Amino acid sequence: MLADRHQRTQQASRIPGDARWRLPSRAERADCQAMPTSPTVVWFRRDLRVTDHPALAAAAACGPVVCAWIVDPELLARRHHRCPARRAFLRAGLAALDADLRDRGGALVVRVGRPAQAVPALAREVGARAVACTREVSPFGRRRDEDVRDALAASGIAFHEYDGDLVARLDDIPGPGGDGYQVFTPFHRQWVALPLPAQIPAPSELSGPRVSSDGLDALDATSPPMSAGPAAARAALVAFIRDGHADRYAEARDLPAVAATSRLSAYLRFGMCTSAQIGRALGLPGQLGSGRAAFWRQIGWREFYHHHLARNPHVARQACRAPFGAVAWSDDPALLGVWRAGRTGYPMVDAGMRQLAAEGWLHNRARMVAASFLVKDLHVDWRRGETVFMQELIDGDPASNNGGWQWTAGTGTDAAPYYRIFNPVLQSKKFDPDGAYLRRWIPELRAVEDRFVHEPWRMDDAQQRAARCVIGVDYPAPIVDHAVEREIAVARYRAADPARVGGP
Ligand SMILES: Cc1cc2nc3c(=O)[nH]c(=O)nc-3n(C[C@H](O)[C@H](O)[C@H](O)COP(=O)(O)OP(=O)(O)OC[C@H]3O[C@@H](n4cnc5c(N)ncnc54)[C@H](O)[C@@H]3O)c2cc1C
Repeated sequence: MLADRHQRTQQASRIPGDARWRLPSRAERADCQAMPTSPTVVWFRRDLRVTDHPALAAAAACGPVVCAWIVDPELLARRHHRCPARRAFLRAGLAALDADLRDRGGALVVRVGRPAQAVPALAREVGARAVACTREVSPFGRRRDEDVRDALAASGIAFHEYDGDLVARLDDIPGPGGDGYQVFTPFHRQWVALPLPAQIPAPSELSGPRVSSDGLDALDATSPPMSAGPAAARAALVAFIRDGHADRYAEARDLPAVAATSRLSAYLRFGMCTSAQIGRALGLPGQLGSGRAAFWRQIGWREFYHHHLARNPHVARQACRAPFGAVAWSDDPALLGVWRAGRTGYPMVDAGMRQLAAEGWLHNRARMVAASFLVKDLHVDWRRGETVFMQELIDGDPASNNGGWQWTAGTGTDAAPYYRIFNPVLQSKKFDPDGAYLRRWIPELRAVEDRFVHEPWRMDDAQQRAARCVIGVDYPAPIVDHAVEREIAVARYRAADPARVGGP
């Protein structure tokens, strides 16, 4: 009923350029408050905030709520979720959510268990007639939510899903054949023209029954690498715009030594901020300058990958472009280990992997270079690298990570052609010309002259000794010869399906 009403109100307010969302009207509120005061369970997942939360707003406008988080031990045990930094960030984000709910008279109830059992059990315990949540797009999330829907239906409890995190719902961008787009540019053309969802205030007051909580001990209690919660997200966004980084984004975004990007990815990952909040802060609706427009375009890439994964769940495990499912990977675990440890002997790759291990975050340029090296120079299956990133990235996200890996591997949507292979030395010279990023993450290179810092193996013995960087002792020799491996990679891709993949 809640969702039906909400859909109606959405349709009523879907006037181009107008607000996407509105709360139930006074008459509608009177209608639902006249009903027995059974609460709605609001089930939080990747939407850890109280503003711009349609499910929470609609449920609170209609009566008592029970706000819940389910710790799913089976999910946490999956290889993509074994990431201590992200779990610590999540725990801190849940604590921030609990505090925001308590400010309004509510609280976060935590239950441990499989959602298909734990959610209906909580709903029955509090006498709820409905469970409301924000819609998920990942294949795992969709399957889980179908199971929960079925389990709730067996108890006569409704399950209402709301849009909320993305600017575009799937049906906003159906694509020419109704199954979305495989390439970014036409998606972006439609996406950028959509009106932003209007702001939804946080409920000023929450009421509901007192319910016992299992607490968050199942999640890592270590301190996260960055502050969590909507207030921290807002502060990062405000500083990014105030300090001119949004306006200079187009020129500076590719330089890993410079703190020129927003670092909002982990907040977006857990819904501590939304695309629409970012758009509004940038000045939308309205004309954006080139820097802000370039930044907003990257938010569009995130939404593109979310739509693509939602419509093509098989890409979570398989190459998006079918022929490349047949590439012969080497999958040498020793090579994977050397890459992960940042000891390949290629400074740009090693600096990136060391930053990732230290900070749980990695600059986009360094992500591309490191990923390309694993796949094209070491011939390791992109899925192995995808898993490593999921285990280390605080912003590790099934849609964006899979999209980024398949793009770099040349197996994905709109991907770089397989024969266009990143040269780790040229990338380093172009995007870190003075080696500041390399020296920050590779102390062995600190005394190496600028002219050698991108290729330290070119120093002769005396130069190595003078720089206190003896190759093979202080810093590894290159693990492979890029020029040789490049040719091997091209041959392997070409062999996968010469009739269809094209190329030189
Ligand atoms: C191999 C690989 C793996 C990646 N894995 C992830 C991941 O797990 N999670 C993740 O959020 N991003 C991922 N990205 C995309 C991108 O690298 C990060 O979003 C970005 O570096 C985060 O830093 P930022 O917030 O400062 O980005 P900014 O440059 O400030 O961009 C703002 C936001 O736009 C979005 N964005 C920017 N670039 C991309 C992109 N290429 N694809 C999708 N969204 C983008 C992010 O939400 C980001 O927070 C990956 C990219 C590659 C090449």
